[in-house]
Amino acid sequence: MKQSEINPYPFSDSNKRYQTYDYYMKKKYGGKCAKIPLDAGFTCPNIDGKCGTGGCIYCSGRGSGDFAELPTLSITEQYRITREKLSKKWNTDRCIAYFQAHTNTYAPLPILKEKFEEAAALEGVVGISIATRADCLGNDTIEYLNELSERIDITVELGLQSSNDKTAEIINRGHSFADFEDGYKRLRAGAPKVSICFHIIFGLPGENREIMLETVKKTAELHPDQVKIHLLHIIEGTRLAEIYKNGDYTPMEREDYIDTVCEALTYIPCDIVICRLTGDGMASSLLAPDWSRKKVTILNDIDRKMFENNLWQGKMLQKSFK
Ligand code: SF4
Repeated sequence: MKQSEINPYPFSDSNKRYQTYDYYMKKKYGGKCAKIPLDAGFTCPNIDGKCGTGGCIYCSGRGSGDFAELPTLSITEQYRITREKLSKKWNTDRCIAYFQAHTNTYAPLPILKEKFEEAAALEGVVGISIATRADCLGNDTIEYLNELSERIDITVELGLQSSNDKTAEIINRGHSFADFEDGYKRLRAGAPKVSICFHIIFGLPGENREIMLETVKKTAELHPDQVKIHLLHIIEGTRLAEIYKNGDYTPMEREDYIDTVCEALTYIPCDIVICRLTGDGMASSLLAPDWSRKKVTILNDIDRKMFENNLWQGKMLQKSFK
């Protein structure tokens, strides 16, 4: 019998024992959508001095927007170029305009409107994803996102990384968990049609599995619509790279990461979409962990371990679906 035929997890049409982004997109749009990374030229309050300088210790120079075209090009031009590049890989006409680089609600509202409206009008765009910080969600921005979400699908991706305030200080995050909760709750209440995705990172300095799972449990309590789990990547040129080279940080081992992800999934409510289970850094500037380059084998080993140990997403919260 195939693994998919004895899979106890209901939101899956394969052997995956968690709700994948592909499964969700298939249900929502009838198939995959290409996610087109964009750089609107914004900065970040944790870089420009508003709440910190230097940024998070793992932040690459382009604020996680390494895959986007340069912000000197218009949103339309970036979209056209990247869509063309990705067309062979994705084979779909549906696209998500992904405002990925830096903090994409950190600008005056008229500028945000200009960028998001330009994206919403592009041919093939079925939704907009906006990566930002929970402490950069003014009430006027939330009001606008609410209005925009009446016209097009909007996802706001909020970087939590860890719910532990001590870790937040170590990584120079520039906000506390209470700040994050406040922004999330205001967004949820003020823009109910907006999908909300949390980003969390495993392997942050000073964290053991118990602390990582605490972040997962707090995430589960807040119940976002989607979650992205990342492995901490050490990128050349970051402050984390210096710490690593000085011998003051040891990256997670492969087995530990896989075991932690499998356990974490059991604490995440079954209806939450798991958009990512590994990081996606630039291969050319990745210093460590080297094993993270082979993403497909990591995902396969997560599937295998979930099957062997009879685990599934939300298992610890709900005994059985049958
Ligand atoms: S919040 Fe994002 S863009 Fe800002 S410093 Fe941290 S990782 Fe970089």
